[in-house]
Amino acid sequence: MRSGRGRLLKEAMTEDVRQEILSGLKRVVIKIGSSVISKKEGEKGKSVYRLDEERIRHFARQVKKIARTGREVVLVSSGAIMVGRGRLGLDGAHLSIPEKQACAAIGQSYLMHAYEKKFKTQGLKVAQILLSSDDLANRRRYLNAKHTIEALLEYGVIPIINENDSVTVDEIKIGDNDTLSATVACLVDAGLLVILSDVEGLFSRDPTRRPKNSPPPELIPQVSRVTAEIEKLAGKSGSQVTVGGMITKVLAAKKTMSFGIPTLLINGHDDSVLERVAAGEAVGTLFWSGRGRIRDRQHWIAHTLKARGRLVVDPGAVKALVEGGKSLLPAGVLGVEGVFEFGNAVSVVDEASREIARGLVNYSTGDLERIKGLKTSEVRKLVGDNYYEEVIHRDDLVIFENEV
Ligand code: GLU
Repeated sequence: MRSGRGRLLKEAMTEDVRQEILSGLKRVVIKIGSSVISKKEGEKGKSVYRLDEERIRHFARQVKKIARTGREVVLVSSGAIMVGRGRLGLDGAHLSIPEKQACAAIGQSYLMHAYEKKFKTQGLKVAQILLSSDDLANRRRYLNAKHTIEALLEYGVIPIINENDSVTVDEIKIGDNDTLSATVACLVDAGLLVILSDVEGLFSRDPTRRPKNSPPPELIPQVSRVTAEIEKLAGKSGSQVTVGGMITKVLAAKKTMSFGIPTLLINGHDDSVLERVAAGEAVGTLFWSGRGRIRDRQHWIAHTLKARGRLVVDPGAVKALVEGGKSLLPAGVLGVEGVFEFGNAVSVVDEASREIARGLVNYSTGDLERIKGLKTSEVRKLVGDNYYEEVIHRDDLVIFENEV
């Protein structure tokens, strides 16, 4: 058993780690669970859940505060099915899949209307994005979704994402918004995923099933690796309003960690929790292995994906990529080799065939053959308005600095 001093030391450590994560934080994904934006109404045994618009107003204020620090916020919000049930008076009823999908369709627009209204009072604009696992498995659509979110953030708009429940059937369902939020965090290359739920974090034992006279379970401040033991600890749970339980949260954290993104699990019912997080306090459970893994996505592009082709670039492009930290534009491409599609990994080589970078390409071989060497204005003329300025966007590019 851990001593009190041991715990204090561990909390001090996790505070340092949190400060470090916060100091470099530019983009955060916040998952808002249904339970966090709902209120229980009615008597015991007959209680129902309704959207609590005051909670949405509260989160609008919190997001505004984060945005003021210059950080970008992407929200993943649940609640569509819960709201739809309420609108149709189907509380507590067992629903078939089409009925649930109908509830999602009704609830989603109502939910977004509430976000729209409350965020507007803080001078914030919001946008809805509905995703299914199909959109994310397909590299082209994955990158499309990514570029849309990037464009919204550039306009200072808060993207609010949910699963496209009303049209997705079971086989292509992501299923729960914990998993969706982890996928989104990886998609937008966030510096942190925050999961707001109705629990304080991960406990050393299930806090809801405490045998009489046993000591209270301890909150675990930091998990540096999601082991089988941790997964077992998360067990199975879930309530009337939430889909996932602790296990989906732990698995979401495991996913982001493997991409080099920390996940913080905190209690969204606590009004001051986000401010305490921003102050670096050791609230909730932080899932993070520490330094050095932040570039895992880069690692994934460089070492996990197989390069389908090669782009030979001119010395000007080499300089812009290596020294200027720029994206690769069509003008710098001299030659195209191999057969690849939009979203595939390709090698970028100089005229001496030295690989200087690797990245995810925005054009197929055929399209790139047509536009290589052209200026942006010429590309627009040839391809029309529906073109990408970059052959490989900087965010999708890894430079092999040592090899140049
Ligand atoms: N997408 C579902 C909804 O908005 C919620 C899924 C979840 O809570 O994990 O109703």
